[in-house]
This record gives sequence, structure tokens and C-alpha cells, in this order.
Amino acid sequence: MASADLCEVFTSIQGEGLFAGKKQVFTRFSGCNLSCNYCDTIYAKDYKGDALFESEPFSGFFIKERNPTPPFRLKEYIDLYYRLDPSIDSISLTGGEPLLYSEFITFFLGNYKGNKNFHLETNGTMPEKLKEVIELIDFISMDIKVNFLDSDNFFRIQREFLELSASKPLQIKIVVSGDLDLKNFDRALSLIFDVNKTIPLILQPSSKENFDIKFLSNLYKIAKNRITDVRILPQIHKFWGIK
Ligand code: SF4
Repeated sequence: MASADLCEVFTSIQGEGLFAGKKQVFTRFSGCNLSCNYCDTIYAKDYKGDALFESEPFSGFFIKERNPTPPFRLKEYIDLYYRLDPSIDSISLTGGEPLLYSEFITFFLGNYKGNKNFHLETNGTMPEKLKEVIELIDFISMDIKVNFLDSDNFFRIQREFLELSASKPLQIKIVVSGDLDLKNFDRALSLIFDVNKTIPLILQPSSKENFDIKFLSNLYKIAKNRITDVRILPQIHKFWGIK
């Protein structure tokens, strides 16, 4: 049976994208196959410790469980959270990059999904892994990594990932940092336009930099020429000072 290196599992309010404001269980996997300069979860990328499980919803208290974590342990905690707080909307599989654990996710959802909704937050670079889990996932939040799109191979991989994801409810997120390459931004818009121009596009300012509304406004204007639903949304959980 597959097990996974989990960083932390906790309840919070989704602070990004179309589900902002919804209560979710966040299952954060350790490790990532990319290195983004704006990464705000570096601790998860390199995490080697025990898995930290919140003891009960919104308590802020955590219990250590030894990694690698077996699927039934994750199920126990998720069931506990839903039992104590049935108003939880959904479960976010996040990271790091959760698709590094596609085997675990396939087993977990195949056996324990029940009627719960699972969201996948992914960097959109592992289409072969996505194929393994996609039927079990209810919503996908896919990043387009604009500054890597110089590489034709990277572009091809993100395109393949997007084409697969487009069969599900989906949002695309582009993190906007000051060094965003405008030529590559244009390539990202072409990619979305060619697959489906109505997929919601979230322009998310990097939490590591000051908010440049003029720059964001210009990107919005460029994007709206081709994409139907464009939104500038900062990470609202950062304003609240919560995870
Ligand atoms: S893909 Fe996500 S988790 Fe990985 S380095 Fe980039 S921002 Fe961080």
C-alpha cells in the first residue's frame, strides 16, 4: 500500500482563487519538482520531519505522526474534522507538489473518497501522473509557470496538462512577480486560448512583493483580450495572518 510524506494537515479558509472563503481541509504533501523564486511554501518543499495533523478543526494544535503516512491515518483525521465540523466544504490536496504522490492519492481516493469533494492544487507539470488520478478529482487549480515557458519542452508539458485538466472543473493560476516575462505571459495566454478561453484565469500577486496595481492592471488588460474570465486575486489568508 502506498504511503506519503505529508508536511501538515489542517483546516483553514481557502484564500486563493474561485473557492476563496470556503472552509477546507488542507493536505500538504512534502517535496516539489520545481523551484520558483516566489514560492511561499519552501518549508513543504524540503520537509523531512513528522506529519503534523491539527488535533481538531480550527484548533491550531497539532499532533505529530511519523512519516511516511499510510492512507488510513489521513482518513481518520479527515473523518474527524468532518464529524466535528460538517460545514467544511472540501479537501485541498496541495504541497509542494501533490502529484509526486499520485499512487497514494489514487489509493486514498479510490478507497476513502466517499461523497467528499477533493481539489487538486498543482504546478501542472506531470501529465502522466494526472492521468492516474483525474477521474477521482473534483476540481483542479493548475499553475502556469510563466517564466519557465521559454523552454519548448516545458510549454509542451503544460499544454498537455491543461488539455487533460480541461475535462474537469478548472481554474488556472498565474503568480505575478515583478520579474514576470511579458513575452512568456503572452505564450501562456495563447496556451489557454487554444485549449478553452473560458477557463477562469486568476492573476495572483506574489505575496513576497509589494502589490503593483498598475502592473497588474496592465496584465489584466492584456489577458482580457483573449480570456473571458480574468480576475486579480491576492491570497486573502495572508491578510488574515492564517495558513
Ligand atoms: S511549484 Fe509551488 S511548491 Fe513548487 S517551488 Fe513552485 S511555488 Fe513552490
